[in-house]
Amino acid sequence: MEKLTEGKIAFFAPVAKIVSKDLEVFYNPVMQLNRDISITLLKALGRKKLVIADPLAGTGIRSLRFLKELPKGMIEQLRVNDVNGKFPALFKKQLKQNKLSAKNVVISRRDASKFMLDGPGLDYIDIDPFGSPNQFLDAATKFISRDGVLAVTATDTGALAGAFKDACRRKYWAEPLRNELMHEVGIRILIRKCQLIAMQHDRALMPIFVHSSDHYVRVYLHAEKSKEVIKTILDRHGFVHYCNNCFARTSSGINVERCACGTIMRAAGPLWLGQLWNHAVVKKMITKAPAHLKKFLHTIHEESHIPEIGFYDLHKLASALKVPVPPTETILARLRKKGFKAAQTHFRAASVRTDAPLKVVKRILKS
Ligand SMILES: [Zn+2]
Repeated sequence: MEKLTEGKIAFFAPVAKIVSKDLEVFYNPVMQLNRDISITLLKALGRKKLVIADPLAGTGIRSLRFLKELPKGMIEQLRVNDVNGKFPALFKKQLKQNKLSAKNVVISRRDASKFMLDGPGLDYIDIDPFGSPNQFLDAATKFISRDGVLAVTATDTGALAGAFKDACRRKYWAEPLRNELMHEVGIRILIRKCQLIAMQHDRALMPIFVHSSDHYVRVYLHAEKSKEVIKTILDRHGFVHYCNNCFARTSSGINVERCACGTIMRAAGPLWLGQLWNHAVVKKMITKAPAHLKKFLHTIHEESHIPEIGFYDLHKLASALKVPVPPTETILARLRKKGFKAAQTHFRAASVRTDAPLKVVKRILKS
């Protein structure tokens, strides 16, 4: 164990060259951004007296940061758990190290699902596993309270982003898409899976914030108890269709579509076709974010205003059209000048989310 720092917390964690779930106590430094965003999101929601659950706590770093960084009055109770037998002693040591009170903190070392099933209604649950979140979704969606927020990380992007198609079919009940849209499609597949599991418990889950990197995807889902909202969610499940010939894309409720160019399109899904972000929440997050997050959140805020599914990879289009790759800013300006919405996407470099038709984007690239 070594003493490390993250945010305003000093804590003990194993330091390994390769992060794996075989580590004695689990700590993944790459996930700092993930934790920074969860704190920013909770600050932006600005709710009081939350019962927060951290069922897969590892070293407990996320919970320690919640206790240190969230405003007074926001946490009614923090329930922190890890199945590792050494966890309670370690977490008590971490609290002491940071001069944090154990008052309102419940520490346990149980199976994560059993830990959730045992608790009161939970206003914020953070499912942050190594790999797929699947096995924890049933307990989490059953015990998330009305108006609660469920945060879910998936690090098995190989399945969700289509490197392992059979794993995606088996674990997420959907067909992935292996191209520039793979991470957005993967997030939409993960959202639908969470929504389906939650429906079994009459919970309606609506995304309010998502983000993606090469190593993981992360979704924040607002929970309601409403059969009516569940119905509208089901109406927004469908397929994304992608043309490998001309790169057109569309969405629909059926799994076969023919492109205007005549090609049968590749179908991905079923998946969530609705909004990925609540832009009022994103806007509020920008005001609460630490300096290093503001640019990233600004990009997401811009793209959150464009409900179109998918985006255009300028390198891919330029290469197909045999033209030089223009600066992304130039393309954005030209699209906006023509009256279309256009923004950079956080999902991929040099890629543009827009409501302009593909032929307009191609025309601008050629000119
Ligand atoms: Zn086509």
